[in-house]
Amino acid sequence: MSIQKGKKHLLPVFIVVACCAGLLITRASNSSNRNGKTETPMTTTSPQNEKARRLAEGLKRKGISDKRVLAAIENVPRHLFIDEELSEYAYLDRALPIEKEQTISQPYTVAYQTQLLELKPGEKVLEIGTGSGYQAAILCEMDAEVYSIERYHQLYLTAKETLNKLGYHPNLFYGDGFEGLPEHAPFDKILLTAAPVEVPKKLLQQLRVGGWMVAPLGGRMGQKMTVIKRIGEEEFRESEHGNFIFVPMQKGTAK
Ligand code: SAH
Repeated sequence: MSIQKGKKHLLPVFIVVACCAGLLITRASNSSNRNGKTETPMTTTSPQNEKARRLAEGLKRKGISDKRVLAAIENVPRHLFIDEELSEYAYLDRALPIEKEQTISQPYTVAYQTQLLELKPGEKVLEIGTGSGYQAAILCEMDAEVYSIERYHQLYLTAKETLNKLGYHPNLFYGDGFEGLPEHAPFDKILLTAAPVEVPKKLLQQLRVGGWMVAPLGGRMGQKMTVIKRIGEEEFRESEHGNFIFVPMQKGTAK
């Protein structure tokens, strides 16, 4: 397998800082999608909906231009993916702590990574690191066929409950993301929301030719957002898209 280095985009340094977690209802799209989304997560107008709208507006000002990504940010009630005590921070552009010393990524980071996926409706996406389930909800909102793996059993359970309550039904798995889901491969896109030091080779093999992975690569001091395209059976092309800080991708599973 060969990996070619492509063009570099040196974007500003965006730090995914850890903090804490929240609740209630905003607004929603009402179609049912491939993840079996059958109901509307938000009521038509609520303070949360207005906050989500302003959050999306802020992300647009920060350079997010994909309208489907921005619409998903508006429609997903982020306060329901965090601890109720932290709900006042839910619509700030900040990472927040969730259980097991993990984080729900900063909305900018979620939007940025999702934009790099260039998702078309119906595409099959594998997310590594379900965490709170927020990113998975964003992918469901964009009508992707979503698969997501989480290594903490407790997070897997909580995310499943939250997502299902909101009417999102992605395919969730408790397991080690380094293994991927060979039985469900190939995927059009793979998204890593935890950072490995090096690209996980088994995951590259689960991409379809023409598909790509969006992955923060690097150690604890920071990572390069990297897009790795599978351009042939054993040929990959890599490009870098700015500096970020994510929680590390860790081997194995835990309770
Ligand atoms: N996408 C999440 C962000 C969670 S932070 C959200 O929207 O909230 C990254 C998550 O990756 C953590 O929950 C962490 O437990 C998980 N993780 C780390 N290493 C992993 C691995 N090898 N397999 C699966 N999940 C992993």
